[in-house]
Amino acid sequence: MKLTLRARLTLMISLISLISVGLVSAFASYTLNQQFKSYITAQQEIAINEIVSNLSQQYDDDAQAWDVDFIHTIGMYALNEGYIIKVSDLNDTTLWDAETWDMSACVQLRDEVTHRMLNEFPGNDGSFSSTEFPLAFAGKLVGSVNMTYFGPYFYDENDFRFLEQLRSVLIGIALGVLLVSILIGSYFAKRLSQPIYETIAATDKISRGDYGSRIQDSSDVKEVDDLIRSVNAMAHSLEKQERLKRQLTSDVAHELRTPLTTLLTTTEAMIEGLWEPTKERLESNLEEVKRITTIVKDLESLASVEDGNLVLKKTEVSLPEITAQVLKNLSLQLDGKKMSVQMVGSCSIIPADPDRMVQVIYNLINNAIKYTQEKGQIRINFNENKDQVIFSITDNGFGIPNEELPFIFERFYRADKSRNRDTGGSGIGLAIVKSIIQAHQGEIEAISTLDVGSTFTVKLPKRS
Ligand code: ADP
Repeated sequence: MKLTLRARLTLMISLISLISVGLVSAFASYTLNQQFKSYITAQQEIAINEIVSNLSQQYDDDAQAWDVDFIHTIGMYALNEGYIIKVSDLNDTTLWDAETWDMSACVQLRDEVTHRMLNEFPGNDGSFSSTEFPLAFAGKLVGSVNMTYFGPYFYDENDFRFLEQLRSVLIGIALGVLLVSILIGSYFAKRLSQPIYETIAATDKISRGDYGSRIQDSSDVKEVDDLIRSVNAMAHSLEKQERLKRQLTSDVAHELRTPLTTLLTTTEAMIEGLWEPTKERLESNLEEVKRITTIVKDLESLASVEDGNLVLKKTEVSLPEITAQVLKNLSLQLDGKKMSVQMVGSCSIIPADPDRMVQVIYNLINNAIKYTQEKGQIRINFNENKDQVIFSITDNGFGIPNEELPFIFERFYRADKSRNRDTGGSGIGLAIVKSIIQAHQGEIEAISTLDVGSTFTVKLPKRS
C-alpha cells in the first residue's frame, strides 16, 4: 500500500512515541509496584511487631494472668487488618482464637485476600501460612501468638485502590503524552511534507511544459531545501533551453528566409525571361547559396560540439603553434583590412583536441578581424599558472555593449544586429567556442568596452 509522506511520517512518529511511552510506562509501573511491595512488606512487619508487642502487654505479671478482653480487642483489630491470630499461654492453653470467635469472618478473610492477591497478580505464588511468635513480658516468656496471614505480603482494599489509582494516572499520562506527540508529529510531518508536495506539483507542471513555474516555499530541512533549489534551477535551465530552442527555430527561419527569398525571386525572374541571367546576377545568387551553406555548416558544427555530442581526440597541443597556423589561414582577411597582429608570451603544451583548438582560435581571431575597423590591431597573449594555460585575444575594435556581453556565447546571439548584417555572422561562432572550451574543462570570458575593444580570455587545464 502506498501511503502519503505525511501519513507515513505521522504513523512513524506515533509508533515511536507509542513504543517509548509504552516502555516508560511499563518501567514506571514495574518500579512503582516493586517500591510499593517493599513498602507494604515493611509496613506488615511493623504491624506484626505491634500486634505482638500489644499482646505481650496484656499480661499482668502480678496476677500472673492475661487480660482476655483486651486480647479480644487486639485480635479483632488484627483480623480487620488481615491477620488471624490465636493467643496461647505458657501451658499452651488457648486464651483467644479468632477462628473460634468468628469462624465465618476468618473464612471470608482467607477467601477475600486469596482471591484478591491471586486474581490481581496471577504470577503470585503466595498463600496463607501460620507463624508462631513468642510473647514476652519484662524479658520473660509468658505465652505465644500464632498468626496466620497471606505471605510473603498482601494488599488490603486501600492498597489496591491506591495501586488502581496509580495505574489510572500512569495510563492517563501515557495517553496524554501519546496524543501530544501524535499532534506534534503530525505538525512536523506537515511542515516537512508541504514543500515536497509543492515540489511535486511544480515538477509536474514543468514536465507538462510549464517551465516558468517555480517553488516559492523554502524548507528548514537542508535536503528538501537543496531539492527545491535544484528543481528551481532545473526549471530555470529548461526555460532558458526552451527560449533558446524557440529563438533558434525563429532565427534559423529568419536567417534562411532572406537569402532564399532573394534566390526565389531572382531565379523566377530569370526563368520567366524578365531578367537576363547575367554573370553578375548568377554570382549574386551564388553568394546567397554560399550564405545559406555557411549557416547550415555552422549549425552542423554547433550540433556536433554541443552538450554530449563532442568526442575529443586529445594529443599534445602547443597553442602558440596552432595560433600561428590560424593566422596564416586568415592572412587574406588580415591583409584585406590592413590589420596588424602581435603575439606575446609563451605557454606549456597541453592535452587538447588540436582540430577543436584550431576552431576556437580561428573563431576568436576571425571575430576580432570582423568586428574591428581597418588598420586595427590584434594582440594575442600567452601565459600560464600552476594548473592552467591562459591565452587572450584583444582587439581595438567596435567593442560589445555591456548589456549584451552576458549573451554573446548563446547560439544565434548577435550584438549590435545592424552592424552584424554586413559582417555576415550567424551568431554561432562563440557558442561553438564555449562548447569546445567546456568540453576541455576550461573557461572562457569576455570583457569589452564599446568603441575601445574586446578581450576574450581562455583558460585551459594543463592536465586532463
Ligand atoms: P557571429 O557569427 O555573429 O560573429 P559569434 O557567436 O562569433 O557570431 O559572436 C556573437 C556576437 O558577439 C557577434 O555577433 C558580435 O556582436 C559579438 N562579438 C564577438 N566577438 C567580438 C569582438 N571581437 N568584438 C566585438 N564584438 C564581438
